[in-house]
Amino acid sequence: MNMRSLMMVFLTMTATILTPASPIKRVAIVFDDGPRPADAEPLLALLAQEKIHVTFSLVGDRVDENPATVKAIAAAGHEIANHSQTHAHPRDLKDAALDQEVATAQKKLTAILGHAPRWYWPPFIEIDDRLPAAVARAQLAVYLPRKIVASMDYDTSVSAAEILRRATTGIEDGTVILNHEWRAETRQQLPAILAELRRQNCVFLTFSELHDSLAAFPVSGAVSEK
Ligand SMILES: [Zn+2]
Repeated sequence: MNMRSLMMVFLTMTATILTPASPIKRVAIVFDDGPRPADAEPLLALLAQEKIHVTFSLVGDRVDENPATVKAIAAAGHEIANHSQTHAHPRDLKDAALDQEVATAQKKLTAILGHAPRWYWPPFIEIDDRLPAAVARAQLAVYLPRKIVASMDYDTSVSAAEILRRATTGIEDGTVILNHEWRAETRQQLPAILAELRRQNCVFLTFSELHDSLAAFPVSGAVSEK
């Protein structure tokens, strides 16, 4: 190798090292409306294979029916959020009923888990002026994401390909990606969704991990080279 080609190799190497890496995007994937064993079990298997942790936002009525599934989700290292007792529209509820929706599910989840869920994730993401206080009375907090991207998988007319596209489009640092436990097409697409998100430099956190990370590091740093 002559001097010139040696120099070229050196310059190429330097350029590779100095190219700024794209910043990482911290995201939290949430699966709403479980737990149902028939849906949660294959989803847990997939998440274990992918080695990621997500958040399951659970409905109290289904928690009552499937306490073992709640325990299995927590044992696998996923975070559990309170998604109300009956999934009623928060805005339609009188004050006392709103309190009940939050507190009943919280009490049941706490009894099963042995610790209190930290976050309330409102059905239909309906947040009105009363909700933060009602949630605070039950000693938790509403999870307020920096950005929400919905796969729209709750709409059965949305195809599997569309779920993949929506779940991976417009993702920014701090985004919550909203999916539903019951939607089989979301599970089928999950490896493709995660592969695309990884290509976009996403790292997968639970609600609490995302919240705490954003509080500690509001702006995403650059990752080391890919
Ligand atoms: Zn829901």
